[in-house]
Amino acid sequence: MRITMIGTGYVGLVSGACFSDFGHEVICVDKDAAKIASLERGVMPIYEPGLDALVATNVRAGRLSFTTDVVAGVADADAVFIAVGTPSRRGDGHADLSYVFAAAREIAEAVTRDVLLVTKSTVPVGTGDEVERIVREAAPGRTIRVSSNPEFLREGAAIEDFKRPDRVVCGTDDEAAREVLRQIYRPLSLNQSAPVLFTGRRTAELIKYAANAFLATKITFINEIADLCEAAGADVQEVSRGIGLDNRIGRKFLHAGPGYGGSCFPKDTLALLKTAEDLQSPLRIVEAVVSVNDSRKRAMGRKVLKAMDGDARGKRIAVLGLTFKPNTDDMRDSPAIAVIQALQDAGADIHACDPEGIEQARKVLQNVEFHADPYAAAEGADAVVIVTEWDAYRALDLARLARTMASPLMVDLRNVYTREEAQRAGLTHVGVGKP
Ligand code: NAD
Repeated sequence: MRITMIGTGYVGLVSGACFSDFGHEVICVDKDAAKIASLERGVMPIYEPGLDALVATNVRAGRLSFTTDVVAGVADADAVFIAVGTPSRRGDGHADLSYVFAAAREIAEAVTRDVLLVTKSTVPVGTGDEVERIVREAAPGRTIRVSSNPEFLREGAAIEDFKRPDRVVCGTDDEAAREVLRQIYRPLSLNQSAPVLFTGRRTAELIKYAANAFLATKITFINEIADLCEAAGADVQEVSRGIGLDNRIGRKFLHAGPGYGGSCFPKDTLALLKTAEDLQSPLRIVEAVVSVNDSRKRAMGRKVLKAMDGDARGKRIAVLGLTFKPNTDDMRDSPAIAVIQALQDAGADIHACDPEGIEQARKVLQNVEFHADPYAAAEGADAVVIVTEWDAYRALDLARLARTMASPLMVDLRNVYTREEAQRAGLTHVGVGKP
């Protein structure tokens, strides 16, 4: 199959590289010339484990190429995927669909043959209808079938998730479109690693939001239980294990922490609420999740302050981990941003460190001193705060950390360490949801 990916970001680049690894011929298009130039030099514009090798192998095999030219990109395609961003629209929280609609128009104006158009971007239910209207208007007389194929990969494990997904969701009622999608995903069904679920287009669009809202709910649920644990003298990690071993509940997404962030959950839960509002079918649980999570991020800043006896003025605080989760450089809506701002508002001097996120962090954080090394960040600090549980911070020499600090306090927002091991090393340890 000849596949074109419009948008070569976290999703487009990983999907394009994986499709080419399946044996398809893939062209990745992006209008960001710097991104394409970087990819042509073999330099990845994002950090994602394993991606550089996957891209290099498939470029060498002649199956994967990059361009800024949408016309050349779509000319011979059997299927064109839209993988552009759908951020929150400024001011109202609706998904901003302007990139999707612009891409649809550009594709329709560029195609020279009948083609399958697949929306991989996360878009509100009904968006496919509007995309269909746009392409009909831009390319009258041409058959452009519009389908939905939401993406569920997680940054940090994106290649594994794409190649071994729990399921693939394809939304279309059109048999010819289904056949093309079957061919595209055949390598997955061949080794029976993933069921390909065919649904109507609107259903597929909604599945993506329902999945993200449910996962955000699980995280928020355990975060509130963590607060209750603190008040009641119970341990949230044990509660989490105790409920998660029940197969009906499951163990994943039950880790208490500083609240969900990232490029998906915050904007997708908000957009889902807007859809529900528009359709007068309120989602009260999701409303509560959004509001609880919003307040949690700053509350984590207050938690650090409380551990410092309420006084952070002029004090040095080391923040370990800035990205919204480990193994990515993505800083979008990272809880670290709100935590750091709350601490800066209280007068603290922030020294931060992150294995891959510093370049992105510089764009969103002001007056922070960055360090490559956690011990350097902690030197002379009055508190160390673990915000993101990178592997590099899981086996720190705690005694060395304690020795380098002015006052040996660790606020561990991911419960990476136990109180006992921290205490043995001379650190006062404050975790989340601990008695
Ligand atoms: P991103 O911002 O990393 O990448 C989007 C890319 O699209 C950018 O490089 C941009 O330059 C390019 N672009 C925009 N308009 C274009 C056009 N007309 N022609 C060519 N290129 C264009 O975004 P992302 O994180 O990859 O997310 C893409 C979509 O996938 C979003 O809808 C998101 O919600 C969804 N999604 C993201 C993830 C994730 O983990 N990042 C997971 C699942 C789904």
